[in-house]
Amino acid sequence: MDFAPALRRSASWLLDAILPPRCLKCGEIVADSGSLCGACWSALKFLGPPCCACCGLPFEFDMGDGSLCAACTAKRPLYDRARAALTYDDASRELVLRFKHADRIDGAATFAGWMARAGAELIADADIIAPVPLHRWRLVRRRYNQAAILANAIGALRGKRVVPDLLVRRRATASQGHLGRSQRQRNVAGAFALHPGRAQSVAGTRILLIDDVLTTGATAESCARALQNAGATAVDLLVLARVVRVQPT
Ligand SMILES: [Zn+2]
Ligand SMILES: [Zn+2]
Repeated sequence: MDFAPALRRSASWLLDAILPPRCLKCGEIVADSGSLCGACWSALKFLGPPCCACCGLPFEFDMGDGSLCAACTAKRPLYDRARAALTYDDASRELVLRFKHADRIDGAATFAGWMARAGAELIADADIIAPVPLHRWRLVRRRYNQAAILANAIGALRGKRVVPDLLVRRRATASQGHLGRSQRQRNVAGAFALHPGRAQSVAGTRILLIDDVLTTGATAESCARALQNAGATAVDLLVLARVVRVQPT
């Protein structure tokens, strides 16, 4: 009789039981799994009102309901509203990268809680929650889509319908890390389409897209266009972290 599989199972159970939970960012031992140590926690910049009614850019002063930032006043993005839980900066970058690349998906419930607070209104208004998709080759390499994990966690938390494969990537797009806004727009133009089996479910609905990071919004706008073409009445975006640039006023 082969006891090896049973032994391996109990060994991994034992490891889980012995190994203490680690800070999602720095790996320091913490009390609860999926949490941060005090230092990493206090370095994060959480976002909330007052902010641009459209893109969610934080304002220093409350400018009244419906106020828009300079960029949205000049040209409204294709999505309706965007909100983010955190500023994407030196403090949050490592957290996001570990979630994305280093299998620290035990942070999903914590992140979903932050996002559910930041995007409470968007979630309440949404008929369908859907992640920004990864191309399948990238999915094979990474093994999981961090946006889909967040979408599922937020849906479970707020009792909302999640459709993980609502959108598909028609083609792999180049990594956008070093691209500027117009280059990103070209890179992702037409890259997204509705899943052929899902096209009917979108007409007349409000969609909430979920992603990990918002930089220029080019990806979100490309997704929004595909959804609007299929008849979505609104497309909102909720992310874990967004870049906050100082804008000319
Ligand atoms: Zn830490
Ligand atoms: Zn704005």
